[in-house]
Amino acid sequence: MSKSKDKRIRKFKKKRIWPSILGLFIVSICFMVIMLAVVAFLVSDVVKNKIVAGIHDTEEVSHFFEKIESFEELAEIEETLLFYIDIETDVESIAVIEDDKVVWSSDDRYPSRTSESEFMITDDIRVFIEDDPENNFIIEDNTLNVSKDFINSIEIKEILGTEEMIIPNGTALAHLKVWFEVPTEVGNVYVLKDLKVYQEDLFTLIICTVLIAVIIATFMIYYLISFIGLFFDMHKNSKIIYTDMLTGGENRLFFEKKGNSLIRKAGRRGKKYAVIHLKMRKYRSYCTCFGVKEGEALIEKCYALLKKQISRKELMVHRENAQFGLLLAYENREQLVTRVEKIESVLNTISPNIKLYFGVGIYLTQIGDKDIEQLYNNALLACDMLGEEAENKIAFFDVEMNNQRIWERKVEDDMNRALKNKEFQVYLQPKIKTSEEVLAGAEALVRWIHPQEGFIPPNKFIPIFEKNGFITKLDDYMLEEVASLQEQWIKQGNKIVPISVNISRAHFTRSDLAAHICSIVDKYEVPHNVIELELTESAFFDDKKQLLDTINQLRELGFSVSMDDFGAGYSSLNSLKEMHIDVLKIDADFFRGADVEERGMLIVSEVIELAKKLDMKIVAEGIESREQVDFLTEQECDLIQGYFFSKPMPVAEFVEKYKDFR
Ligand code: C2E
Ligand code: CA
Ligand code: CA
Repeated sequence: MSKSKDKRIRKFKKKRIWPSILGLFIVSICFMVIMLAVVAFLVSDVVKNKIVAGIHDTEEVSHFFEKIESFEELAEIEETLLFYIDIETDVESIAVIEDDKVVWSSDDRYPSRTSESEFMITDDIRVFIEDDPENNFIIEDNTLNVSKDFINSIEIKEILGTEEMIIPNGTALAHLKVWFEVPTEVGNVYVLKDLKVYQEDLFTLIICTVLIAVIIATFMIYYLISFIGLFFDMHKNSKIIYTDMLTGGENRLFFEKKGNSLIRKAGRRGKKYAVIHLKMRKYRSYCTCFGVKEGEALIEKCYALLKKQISRKELMVHRENAQFGLLLAYENREQLVTRVEKIESVLNTISPNIKLYFGVGIYLTQIGDKDIEQLYNNALLACDMLGEEAENKIAFFDVEMNNQRIWERKVEDDMNRALKNKEFQVYLQPKIKTSEEVLAGAEALVRWIHPQEGFIPPNKFIPIFEKNGFITKLDDYMLEEVASLQEQWIKQGNKIVPISVNISRAHFTRSDLAAHICSIVDKYEVPHNVIELELTESAFFDDKKQLLDTINQLRELGFSVSMDDFGAGYSSLNSLKEMHIDVLKIDADFFRGADVEERGMLIVSEVIELAKKLDMKIVAEGIESREQVDFLTEQECDLIQGYFFSKPMPVAEFVEKYKDFR
């Protein structure tokens, strides 16, 4: 998966719904606050209007009292006063207080007092009308201080609207009783007023509140709908993102998400899990034979069968091609292997005519493991180590594999530079003529002289190059080096022997291989018979026709062709019959091990005899002892290559050692 795609998916997976919920919550609070503020403003406006109306009445009352100079006078005109006040104003009660003493009260009601100095107003608000407070309308300690100027400046209609509204019909919705206070000649006059709140007073308030409530409700409904939409979208998207398009089941991303949580919990509960990479072998060939549709149907069937093998606390997903990722709980290795084998045999019930082969890599989780993708890679690596040929094999990951992987990466990073810098060097191992024990040929074997790692033997990098295809470049390079050496020696007038180079099976994918080899060698203008080409026996199992054609072309061009490592793999004497090759190299394995020696020798003598009949030269490889040499002399084996005579050595050393031969 590309980095950007991976990033996008990760970003999507991180997307959470809670920011939307939080957003909704914050916006709701804001709306509520706005609504409360508007309502509070409107309420305070109503109250203010009521108070101003109260003040106005109090002012009226105070006019009557302003004309009174003494209590005696007050007592005299009390009845008339009350009559006029009743006509002119709408107050409940009047009290006159001087020096903290109630001196007169219209109906025995007056503000009570809590201490010597302060009145506790019976109702919460006390309105004090002064001649000249600092401001027109200020509230201090529950007291509203109002200036007379302010009162005079207010038109009653301005405050209460129409006449009808001054004395509205109907019952009051709320009562607000307030004592108003006016200083007069006779003392402070207190007026109790019931500031009734009528439905009409609340008209604007109700309209505004309803309007705001409607706006808020509309917004909330809109937001809620989009929120629900988002929720369903996310649900749908997460379903898509975690679904495998081929099987319709869960995919790699789900494996990662659920797997990580399962292995984390397993660590805490002491449960053991194995991360498994299961790969069907030769899936491509299956698709080539039966078509892609059939191939996909096969994967679907495998998926369905595998699903039945998995318990609730386990995982199985289809990854890509014919690969499945599994997370299985297990008790011990044996039980796990038995289970995996059973799974393989269940998968083999899909088609009775076709045997399916699987490669299985297993990583056993450890305490502290967190990243299932990393663990899956380990399982994959273990499976890769099995190689392509293995049938139904199971490999457990170990640390060595990881080291190998690191090494492989290093080799791959360095190989191109190494080729450019000529870090690969030709070593020559002599082939000795058995009868006379003189030099009769040599094999060119590569060595890597790495600037940091030093001397690296071919088995540490050739298999990697064979896997990644770089081997063809290396072989071309070796061929060129050998051709150049031969040219140099010919020009120097030295006696030369044929030198063989190894041609990996990877070359046989190209149909113009013979021409290609020819073009490299011909750059140095050396006769073709001084170069021998060693083909490994395994190459003989690939495309036979192509191989036979190439061998014939090479031989026609004058190159000598040898079959390397004969007898090492699945030898086929048959292939000898079909292929016209010049040299047969008997593998060193025939000469190893004490108890097989006798049987081995018997086979060697038979092979030598057969090869002779087929007109081939015989080279025995890996010869380390005099007894082996004597035996081969007896069998009339042509050439011997082995440590008994010499190890592969640098070119200069080879020249030095065999200078007498020249
Ligand atoms: P090979 O082609 O079978 O080469 C013979 C190997 O046997 C060489 O190993 C050689 O050092 C070793 N050998 C020879 N005599 C004896 C002996 O008496 N005892 C023992 N124990 N070993 C002996 P080397 O050089 O390590 O090469 C290993 C393999 O790497 C070669 O096996 C060949 O398959 C591959 N290789 C080496 N160079 C090249 C190359 O340039 N191209 C390709 N494609 N493969 C190469
Ligand atoms: Ca060889
Ligand atoms: Ca060999």
